[in-house]
Amino acid sequence: MSGPRKPQRIIPIQPLFASDPKVYPRSVSGLFQRWRWVFAWLTQIVFYGLCWLPWNGRQAVLFDLDARRFYVFDFVLWPQDIIYLAVLLVLSALALFLFTTVAGRVWCGYTCPQTVYTEIFLWIEQRIEGDRPRRMKLDAAPWSAHKIGLKTAKHSTWLVLSLWTGFTFVGYFTPIRDLAAATMTFSLSGWETFWVLFYGAATYGNAGFMREQMCKYICPYAQFQFVMFDPDTLIVAYDEARGEPRGKRSKKAVPAEQGLGDCIDCSICVQVCPTGIDIRDGLQLECIGCAACIDACDQVMDQMDYPRGLIRYSTENALKNKSSRATIIGRSLRPRVLIYSAVFLSMLVATVWSLALRVPLKLDIERDRAALATETTEGLIENAFRLQVINASEQPRTFAITVGGVAGIHLPQNLELTVPAAASGSVTAQVRLEPGAVRAGSHPIRFTVVDTVDPQVAVTEETRFWMP
Ligand code: SF4
Ligand code: SF4
Repeated sequence: MSGPRKPQRIIPIQPLFASDPKVYPRSVSGLFQRWRWVFAWLTQIVFYGLCWLPWNGRQAVLFDLDARRFYVFDFVLWPQDIIYLAVLLVLSALALFLFTTVAGRVWCGYTCPQTVYTEIFLWIEQRIEGDRPRRMKLDAAPWSAHKIGLKTAKHSTWLVLSLWTGFTFVGYFTPIRDLAAATMTFSLSGWETFWVLFYGAATYGNAGFMREQMCKYICPYAQFQFVMFDPDTLIVAYDEARGEPRGKRSKKAVPAEQGLGDCIDCSICVQVCPTGIDIRDGLQLECIGCAACIDACDQVMDQMDYPRGLIRYSTENALKNKSSRATIIGRSLRPRVLIYSAVFLSMLVATVWSLALRVPLKLDIERDRAALATETTEGLIENAFRLQVINASEQPRTFAITVGGVAGIHLPQNLELTVPAAASGSVTAQVRLEPGAVRAGSHPIRFTVVDTVDPQVAVTEETRFWMP
């Protein structure tokens, strides 16, 4: 017989994702809004324009993956130059650490593509559907010819911009003029079509629909950046000591007499926020540092004849200690910032120096695999090598090849190789030595490749000669 059954414990099911209500940011004007548009224009002029810039008869910036060559103005980078890409990534990470430590989320607020495209898409939305109250009303209204017309106009404009963005992006990997010609004649390759549509769809989805969700849930930088913050990092902050207790009042009322702070609880700062948060609740992960709430609150303060800056750029320490602007600036030169700056600047200088001194020539040596050493009819010991010479400049060059490193080592005849611009060429070099000139075994030797016209363009690489 079994005993009485234990009552089962019911575990409530928790949803893993809570869908957020749609954010309808209100339009705002002011100093920081102007700066956001300056950065939006600058970044977009560079992005949409740079790929059309001609340089030395080709595209100024082109990542030609098929030919495994990157063109960046005068530089032609080969797979062997991958170190520069690694250095660029390290420099970018260091710059991000540095700017985040000093000025918080300036990257997110002003130059991140997600912010910039959301701003552009929102601008289109506002032009077509109106500002926040009209958009909210339109979305709540039943479908009508008017609503369908507005939505069609908005999505069509978004789609055109998204496809242009996808096309431009692919234009950095396929010469954009060829891409344009192929688009006109409907002869884009399958991959080109896929990537244009893919990046177009990503832009449309991220800037049109995902918006602040990208920053809140997907962007890894948003998740770990608080590690780089300290109490002296510049943040967008609400001055609680000055603003509280918040409350509505007439313009003529004196807040102190009513026991009120300067916040009139108008919620405009919340309405303009692209992530829909209330900055008065303190620093939050969702705050992208766009400063829209500063502009909005400053306008409210102007209307109330209160001093500006209830919401402002400040630091935790400055708010706590009521520090002056000079103190805030002085604290930006703290040890952590100085160390980041020193590392960043030294790496930057070393990279620029290395690029300036970079010889546009590379040499790869490969030993003939058939035999380590052979004996010639003249009785000399011969090792054969395959030399691959990469001409990383934009003019054809003729190179003279010599060998040295061991007394008496030589090539049977003068060896020259002409390599076209931004191309590679290879040649076999038979290196000869008298038997017994060195003891049996492996000996270091050097190949030198020199431009016959410009001796500054030269490179020397080591390999080993095998004496049986
Ligand atoms: S905009 Fe300024 S005054 Fe209005 S609620 Fe926000 S902090 Fe208060
Ligand atoms: S709280 Fe202010 S700075 Fe932060 S995201 Fe919202 S509007 Fe931008």
